[in-house]
Amino acid sequence: MIATDFDYYRPNTIKEALGLFHTLSENKKSPLYFNGGTEFITFRRIETLYTEVKAVIDIKNINMCHEIKEENDTFIIGASIPLATIETIPHFPLLSKVCNRIADHTSREKITLGGNICSNLKYKEAILPLLLTNCDVVIASPTGLHTVPIQQIYNIQTGKIMLEHGAFIVQFKIDKVFLNMPFTSKKVTANGRIGYPLVTISAIHMPHIVRFAFSGLCHAPFQLDMIDTTLNERNEPLKNRIQKTLEQLPSPILDDMNGSSEFRTFIFHGLVKEIISEFGKE
Ligand SMILES: Cc1cc2nc3c(=O)[nH]c(=O)nc-3n(C[C@H](O)[C@H](O)[C@H](O)COP(=O)(O)OP(=O)(O)OC[C@H]3O[C@@H](n4cnc5c(N)ncnc54)[C@H](O)[C@@H]3O)c2cc1C
Repeated sequence: MIATDFDYYRPNTIKEALGLFHTLSENKKSPLYFNGGTEFITFRRIETLYTEVKAVIDIKNINMCHEIKEENDTFIIGASIPLATIETIPHFPLLSKVCNRIADHTSREKITLGGNICSNLKYKEAILPLLLTNCDVVIASPTGLHTVPIQQIYNIQTGKIMLEHGAFIVQFKIDKVFLNMPFTSKKVTANGRIGYPLVTISAIHMPHIVRFAFSGLCHAPFQLDMIDTTLNERNEPLKNRIQKTLEQLPSPILDDMNGSSEFRTFIFHGLVKEIISEFGKE
């Protein structure tokens, strides 16, 4: 049960959603965009987050937010698509695979792609395929609809998607050239198949290089060209490449109740070796 009241709005258009956000802000309601609602409800219930929010704006009725389509060379997926749906669609197999390992199936019916990416939790695993494919993000903001590369709005230090006040993510656009490249994704948790990642690594084999993206290892998910270069240096022994990568991480290795930094480092070594061997890049 949520102990304190809040207003719920479900607009049908982007214009209506942006207008509501503006009016509710003016009225000191601290509005929040609401997608699957799993994070909002979980944290509001225990009053650790979102306690100031007096109104939520559910964006799931907005057509563009639940589109799944191909347009010329681009695959487009709406920010309100639940992870359980993504698992079942054929367009972007790496994204399907990653989403299949996030939470349990019942939760995945609710959790949305946009919600996972904008979540306050540090894992945001669904961002890995989006970083690997340099996707574009369509943002609705008070100044109009804008399309920007994900790297431009994602901060790998804080793990935050940086949006203008009142803006929200409508869609993700992925260049189809990436969709059929060989890929892999490996996740290790402390306990069983379902759980937060100790380490998740997703990778795609591009024509000349294997690209890697990581979650669970550091404070926020990341992909770094410098790390890809290091791990692809085939004239260096693999052990040295992995060791050098550890010096290039964007922040210290996580050390928390789920796993020590030593254990995460051990898993990281094992997973990178497996992936490199799978792609024949030893
Ligand atoms: C049981 C369970 C297990 C989980 N396990 C994992 C896991 O293993 N790995 C992992 O990565 N995550 C995991 N999560 C975290 C989960 O993925 C996020 O909490 C969840 O994705 C939030 O999605 P939602 O659609 O419900 O978001 P909501 O609760 O609707 O929103 C969450 C936040 O994102 C913002 N937001 C949502 N959509 C948009 C948008 N389109 N534009 C701008 N802001 C937006 C909201 O304003 C809010 O601040 C788990 C969650 C649960 C409940």
